[in-house]
Amino acid sequence: MSFEIPSDVQLDPAFCASLDEQDPLASLRHEFMLPDGVIYLDGMSLGALPKKTSQCVSDVVNEQWGQGLIRSWNSAGWMEAPQRIGGKIARLINAHSDEVVIADSTSVNLFKLLVGALDLKPERRTVLIESTNFPTDIYIAKGVSQLLPGIDVRVISVDQLSESLDDSVAVVMMTHVDYKSSQLQDMEGITRLVHNAGALMLWDLSHSTGAVPLDLARSRVDFAVGCGYKYLNGGPGAPAFVFVALRHLQNFKQPITAWMGHARPFDFTIDYEPSPNISRMLSGTPMILSLAALEVGVDLWAKIDPTLARAKSVALSKLFLSILERTLDTGCLKVASPRDPSQRGGHIAIRHEQGYAVMQAMIDRGVIGDFREPDLMRFGFAPLYLRFIDIWNAAQILTKVIQTNAWDSPEYRERAAVT
Ligand SMILES: *Cc1c(COP(=O)(O)O)cnc(C)c1O
Repeated sequence: MSFEIPSDVQLDPAFCASLDEQDPLASLRHEFMLPDGVIYLDGMSLGALPKKTSQCVSDVVNEQWGQGLIRSWNSAGWMEAPQRIGGKIARLINAHSDEVVIADSTSVNLFKLLVGALDLKPERRTVLIESTNFPTDIYIAKGVSQLLPGIDVRVISVDQLSESLDDSVAVVMMTHVDYKSSQLQDMEGITRLVHNAGALMLWDLSHSTGAVPLDLARSRVDFAVGCGYKYLNGGPGAPAFVFVALRHLQNFKQPITAWMGHARPFDFTIDYEPSPNISRMLSGTPMILSLAALEVGVDLWAKIDPTLARAKSVALSKLFLSILERTLDTGCLKVASPRDPSQRGGHIAIRHEQGYAVMQAMIDRGVIGDFREPDLMRFGFAPLYLRFIDIWNAAQILTKVIQTNAWDSPEYRERAAVT
């Protein structure tokens, strides 16, 4: 199936239902718990709950913890969970199983990678960071520059990358899919450019993993991080993954040298000796309950062809835009994401002067997306649990909210802590 939408086709519920009938991924929706009456377009912020998660976490709590107690570190595979789940993510992003491990949050892993990468390039002291990076990436880089003497962090735009790559640059940090605009960067081309300038490349794949097919081996990526709770459906605050290319591993010194990153934690020696493998990226004790939830989400991806998932996500987003274009005089709505789907990730950002209020009105009507300052509504097209008919219904609700000014009500302007 190609998921193509012919330009002359009548866009209506029957057409959308026909797309659902042909969708080879349609049955995956049954793997998720989705509330009735909700169309969930926020999978890029918090992925939906897989049905098996509840039972799985409950087993880990009641059986493995409750009955097995400390024995479960050995008997229930707790000790290897970070490496085991890391290996499963490695398959999804075409990395070696000894290049990926689960640890901490994305932010903490960014810190570990940046400090370790700077240590590999002691004669170079500049970090280039792209300005559309997720803010946590920029905060971490600035924090590192305050901690380490002589580190200069330069925030640049992607257009300035080429001219900024002088021989002082040690590391370039970029987010692969922009969390706001959804702009997708050319991972392979940019990594090559950075390597040609003698620097190392650190990618943030939080909005990419599970949204677009990734090939870290082919792109010769040095370091990467990614989020567990977005398209991987690992649950709120799920631990993140960290990738270090095998060619760097032996020399890579991460700064949070703690016992779980030690070659033999249970030798309890005074001297720190990093694990020879990717486990050296661990710091403290793995979060077993969170890892259990994450593993369910990651396991769903084992049976899925990422190229097919991507094709469906693109078709969903194209359908959404096509319906809006045909039903709305889109004067007040502007698409802030690339029009070419090959240039964007798994979501679309749409500008509206009162985007926050419009989104609250949508949520009130069962369509959940989110909002980013100053005026961006984000709609995510997670391919595992969305149907084409959902997109039809969501577009109808957005059209109605706009046409009737239903958003124009004080209750929709009140800002919550999480937007
Ligand atoms: C979601 C996201 C993060 C989140 O980092 P945490 O440490 O998990 O809070 C980081 N970077 C990007 C690009 C993200 O989209």
